[in-house]
Amino acid sequence: MAKLIVSDLKNELKGKKVLVRVDFNVPIKDGVIGDDNRIVAALPTIKYIIDNGGKAILLSHLGRVKSDADKKELSLKPVAERLSELLKKPVTFVPENEGKEVEETIDNMKDGDVVVLENTRFQDIDNDFGKRESKNDPKLGEYWASLGDIFVNDAFGTAHRSHASNVGIAEAMKKAGKPAAAGYLLEKEIQFLGDAVENPVHPFVTILGGAKVSDKIGVIENLIPKSDHILIGGGMAYTFLAAQGHKIGKSLFEEDKLDLAKELLEKAGDKIVLPVDNVAATEFSNDAPHEVVGDDIPDNMMGLDIGPKTVAKFKDILKDAKTVVWNGPMGAFEMPNYAEGTLEVGRALAELKDAVTIIGGGDSTAAAKQLGIAPKISHISTGGGASLNYLEGKELPGIACVSDK
Ligand code: AMP
Repeated sequence: MAKLIVSDLKNELKGKKVLVRVDFNVPIKDGVIGDDNRIVAALPTIKYIIDNGGKAILLSHLGRVKSDADKKELSLKPVAERLSELLKKPVTFVPENEGKEVEETIDNMKDGDVVVLENTRFQDIDNDFGKRESKNDPKLGEYWASLGDIFVNDAFGTAHRSHASNVGIAEAMKKAGKPAAAGYLLEKEIQFLGDAVENPVHPFVTILGGAKVSDKIGVIENLIPKSDHILIGGGMAYTFLAAQGHKIGKSLFEEDKLDLAKELLEKAGDKIVLPVDNVAATEFSNDAPHEVVGDDIPDNMMGLDIGPKTVAKFKDILKDAKTVVWNGPMGAFEMPNYAEGTLEVGRALAELKDAVTIIGGGDSTAAAKQLGIAPKISHISTGGGASLNYLEGKELPGIACVSDK
């Protein structure tokens, strides 16, 4: 069933206290924000709420809070300051997320005001329940829900987790007869990933890479029947090549996944496409002697990138694709000598004209940014774990908890 979206509530926002779960989990060192992408990404939902006369009360986690010692480094204060610069208006930061100061600040808000509450994971310490936020203490969700009239979840990065600040609030809001909607970011993720998984335009090509088969098994299993082709590169390819009887030398290998790799290859028929050549090196080092070899890797070498023939083969398959999902690098792309396969796949995606292209996972996203092709990609997912869970066909609690239309 279609989910309620913040824009469905346009006429109900004026004068309302709107609790918004955003993903402000940004890198911070000594109070300085390294990359404000996630704050920028939350702006459309926040602006929509305040432009329509709502009062925006923002909740987010930041990092992992294990003890009081983490509190200084993991305060959302610098984030609230950056948000104020981006919105070009004052943003009130409350150094608590529970209690009198929070309640009074919210009571004094005017229409269009923005308040940021302190890191929700400060609730993971100093209490009887244990990790109140991360273990979803229902009383905490109820308390936060009591602070607002409407809840908007816009944090896709935590949508695969059941926490008090997403699922807990949503459940308590619905119980009280109040709406829990998705924000624009969450809506975009549902739209792109949902269509790719449930309703892809064919040919649908899935490209998987990265170090481990084990991380991507669920995705492969779910997407075998839906994809026309599954292109596999990166370290995970070598367990599959070994399953086909190839020599893989010193390449990454998960022995305990060998039988499963055989099973998946059998199930997929010729849908799974593996490297036909590789850039192999004697050591895991950019400066190590390296050369292009075929699909058998010499005993003293390891495969660190897909080779030029494989790139050509992947590109040939991709040129007709109408839907492409890509997760994981084609090699150890942090080292320039083994980056070309990953960069070529990125370029191939950017060249597609009438296709929906989706990138998930930190490394593929970094490659897209390095190439400057991000604007040419239909959708770059904001959540690594959450997007993999979605591609595995799993229900994400942070989406399931949003009200139906
Ligand atoms: P993942 O976190 O599973 O997406 O894996 C990403 C990491 O896998 C990157 O740091 C790459 O350097 C590494 N990687 C990709 N291909 C290979 C390979 N053939 N051998 C060793 N490491 C690889």
